[in-house]
Amino acid sequence: MSLNSDELVRYSRHLNLPEIGAAGQEQLKGARVLMVGIGGLGSPALLYLAAAGVGTLGLADFDCVEISNLQRQVLFNTEQIGQTKTAAARSRLLSLNPHLTIHTHQLEITADNVTQTIKDYDWILDGTDQFHTRYLVNDACVLLNKPLISAAIHRFEGQLFTYVPHLGPCYRCLFPIPPNEGAVPNCAQAGVLGVLPGVMGALQATETIKLITGIGEPLLGRLLTYDALALRFSEFKFSANDDCSACGPYPTVVPNSESSMSCGRDTIKSLSVVDLQRFLAQNPSDILLVDVREPCEFDAGHIQHAINIPLSELSLRALKTGHYNSIVFICRSGGRSAQACLWAQSQTQTMILNTQGGMLAWQQSVDPSMTVP
Ligand SMILES: [Zn+2]
Repeated sequence: MSLNSDELVRYSRHLNLPEIGAAGQEQLKGARVLMVGIGGLGSPALLYLAAAGVGTLGLADFDCVEISNLQRQVLFNTEQIGQTKTAAARSRLLSLNPHLTIHTHQLEITADNVTQTIKDYDWILDGTDQFHTRYLVNDACVLLNKPLISAAIHRFEGQLFTYVPHLGPCYRCLFPIPPNEGAVPNCAQAGVLGVLPGVMGALQATETIKLITGIGEPLLGRLLTYDALALRFSEFKFSANDDCSACGPYPTVVPNSESSMSCGRDTIKSLSVVDLQRFLAQNPSDILLVDVREPCEFDAGHIQHAINIPLSELSLRALKTGHYNSIVFICRSGGRSAQACLWAQSQTQTMILNTQGGMLAWQQSVDPSMTVP
């Protein structure tokens, strides 16, 4: 993989770094990197990998560019709204660096296609906001011995994690079982600071370039977390789990099998807003209705009997489960309250219920005058 005259000029700042030099730049040119999810994280990660001269980039996504993406997905522009993300990203990246080879995978990663999609790449980056995809990609990387650089974002916080086969633990070593689908709100539900994925995606690209060129210390056995509000990076060390169902000696998760790759779906019982209204009217003292939204959301409008405990502050003491027959959780649309249900089910024998559709459903079906920010 020798460099032509244009590339020698283009990458001169890399070539001047003794740690990279011509040999490292040629390694970058020879590398094949797949980005799963072309969104907030994929945008900076791909821009920097393309600029750095990573020779082959794979783009996997099934979505189209929407106007609400542009607050953070800096790979796209307003004229590209409606185009597929893979096509829009491809043209942007080639205009940045015409020396690249770019393959597009216009698909949603599933148990059926994950190994086929990643098998021809050397390095896999995960930037999706779906838990089941994160586990699918982790499990497939373990199975096919592919290094994985995985980032995630939530509101003001980000995390980064690297897996290198046989050298460090995998994602399942730390988090063995995926959370219940829908239990953790995604960006669309919870909101996200637009610049946050910029930081985390750039870190993902940094790790990738380091791994390809073999420089520095990789993020092995360390979960890096970033709190944008406090402007603080923290690190959580963890080691390979001997019982890991993916990378342990007796793996039980196998890609291409829907049953074994599916997420753990702990059952959450739920009720409709109409039933909730009826129960509250009949037996208000039997039900503890807990609104797990933030206080500013609660103050804007809430159901009469509800108490407010934000999801982050839930504790048994705060709940005072005492004499209630059941505890009903509610939030804006049902995501945060589902997470609260999962937690509460593990803490108490009291009946735990989630309100389907949350305050938005209440506003639509019960009380149109309710303000739901
Ligand atoms: Zn593992």
